[in-house]
Amino acid sequence: MTNGVTIQYIYRYKNNKEYIKPLVILPTEIKPKVKEPIIEVFFFSENCAHCRTHLDSNFPCSNRNCSILSLRRFVTYLLSSRRTLDICVYFLTCSLIVKQILKLKRRNIYIRVITNKEAQDVEPMQILILRRAGIQIRSRKSTYLMHHKFAVIDNEILITGSANWTLQAFFGNCENLIITNQCELVQAYSLEFEKLWFRFRMNKKAVL
Ligand SMILES: [Zn+2]
Repeated sequence: MTNGVTIQYIYRYKNNKEYIKPLVILPTEIKPKVKEPIIEVFFFSENCAHCRTHLDSNFPCSNRNCSILSLRRFVTYLLSSRRTLDICVYFLTCSLIVKQILKLKRRNIYIRVITNKEAQDVEPMQILILRRAGIQIRSRKSTYLMHHKFAVIDNEILITGSANWTLQAFFGNCENLIITNQCELVQAYSLEFEKLWFRFRMNKKAVL
């Protein structure tokens, strides 16, 4: 791959002295073009657990794996939404991300959230905040988990991986995130979202 984003990713691992440069990008600097390939991968681990202590500053530390860098990139993509944001995440408790979602709601982005009921019963506050903001949320009560962790932005960009949208996932767990606009993948996840969105609506007892 020879697109700009991919080059940045490879470059950052081949030359650690320069690795911060391509990652410190302000939200306004990302304007994904439909035909410009996006492929980014982020890994989280216990090596960045202490980075949680400087989360409020929103500035990365000297840790080459600082989670703030990855989170800023992640948030940048979220805020690039222009029309729709479909979120399908098992556990969504990260207030930082919820604040970004609320920003999008204020911009009149059409937002839908699917989550797992049992997970939100444990820590419901952030889901309640989203609901009170008027964001549609669907879930179900079932023996089987809705265990996905993905989001689709404008039906053009996919964010997926192992990570729930929690502080634990970004600051301590071994997790991964992939961000791509590879159209076959985006379409597949969009279709899966629509299936779940419809299925959970039909199961009225299961809707939160
Ligand atoms: Zn850090």
